[in-house]
Amino acid sequence: MQSVRLWSVRHAHGFLRIYAFLEKYIPWIAPLAKLIGLSRAERVMRPLERLTKAFLFDCMMCGECVLSSTGMACTMNCPKQMRNGPCGGVHGDGGCEVKPQMRCVWIDAATGAQNIAGSGAELTTDAMPVLPPRNHVHEGRSSWLQVICGKPTVEPIRKFSEDDVVVHTPGSLENACHSGRFVVTVEVAPPDSADPAALIARAARFRGLVDAINITDGAGGNCHMSSVAASAILAAHDLIPVYQVACRDRNRIAIQGDILGAAALGVQNILCLTGDDVSQGDHPEAKPVFDLDAVSLLRIARGMCDRGLYASGRKLDKAPSLFIGATANPFVPPYTDRILNLEKKVDAGAQFIQTQFCFDIGMLEKFMLEVRSRELHKRCKIIVGVGTLGSAKALSWMAKHVPGVHVPAPLLARIAAAADQKAAAKKVCIETIQAIAGIDGVAGIHVMGHRNEDVLAEIIIESGLRQQQLLQIA
Ligand code: SF4
Repeated sequence: MQSVRLWSVRHAHGFLRIYAFLEKYIPWIAPLAKLIGLSRAERVMRPLERLTKAFLFDCMMCGECVLSSTGMACTMNCPKQMRNGPCGGVHGDGGCEVKPQMRCVWIDAATGAQNIAGSGAELTTDAMPVLPPRNHVHEGRSSWLQVICGKPTVEPIRKFSEDDVVVHTPGSLENACHSGRFVVTVEVAPPDSADPAALIARAARFRGLVDAINITDGAGGNCHMSSVAASAILAAHDLIPVYQVACRDRNRIAIQGDILGAAALGVQNILCLTGDDVSQGDHPEAKPVFDLDAVSLLRIARGMCDRGLYASGRKLDKAPSLFIGATANPFVPPYTDRILNLEKKVDAGAQFIQTQFCFDIGMLEKFMLEVRSRELHKRCKIIVGVGTLGSAKALSWMAKHVPGVHVPAPLLARIAAAADQKAAAKKVCIETIQAIAGIDGVAGIHVMGHRNEDVLAEIIIESGLRQQQLLQIA
């Protein structure tokens, strides 16, 4: 089946023409379908559609067919049900994060979309538009019948306009981002404890050093204190949290409730993520949810903040006031899709972006060139992820086992050859920060390192960023 699917992607342009032809003429048989009754027509159409599309596209019959927007690749084969582009965990060889033996379906989608656009043509969000979250009620339904009846297979998405915006008071991270100075954020993992003391101690190490502290949400699929609770604890201690929200563990009902709860407890910043798969975590037997992807979550969060509405359209009594971020990973394939995915996130309402670990300045520069050419840095703040590990062995383990991390071989060799590998890794991180600070369009850095707070604080100080900021403020 894989070979037929790849053949269909290679001939995506031809299939699109057939689809366009059918879409034009097939509604002519709508009166016939109505005459025999829509439910009877559905019973006839469904198995026919299932067989044909399963053979040609490995179709999963989600009932909301968007093959023409995904290069004729059925992206519902994605284990995370990503609707709007690849997750950040694609392996360097294009293998899927969850099923490494399978090629990421979004690589097929990008190939198909490129075949449709023509070689050399720039892929745009018109070719691969933002799609709404799945409507699970439609699962198994015939999309062909929808087309025959002249109905769209998915509801069109309403674009945000300035008129939508409910005015809100910006928090300190938002102010820092708009001040023009280079911002610094750091990542802290919540504790495996019901006692908040350890969390407060870890986070307090960064008081006065950073603009905000990200609280991870079950990073790597591992269980810790909830991100919403840990963020609220920091907010209560005058530390500025970024509440990370992963789609892996909760459906849209639970997530929207948590967003309201976080805002009610003084949280002003959220980061919308799809989330790592459960297979690498400490509960690999758990059921992943992935009701939403990050793009859909962003749109829902913006709708709550800017229009005071739940995803269902029901009105909130008071809209939350949040600075809303998302992630990007310029360092793994499919590279053409990465910029498109960022653009979709910005269109969906991302106000800031934090990237995966940057160990390759050349790749970042290439990505930022694209960002600047599409002027995305003017619409959202790009904060680049950096980090350090104590040895070449640890770094190489991370490159192999943490989805979406790319570490160039020469960098590994440089750290491995050093007498003091920890000092060498720290030096590399500081050099990387200084190089990043010189790239046009980058708004700041996001420092990450699991339970390594002291070294991260030293890196922030020794890279000169804090002094640089104080000078700029003065
Ligand atoms: S790598 Fe990610 S986006 Fe691609 S198929 Fe796997 S889970 Fe889906």
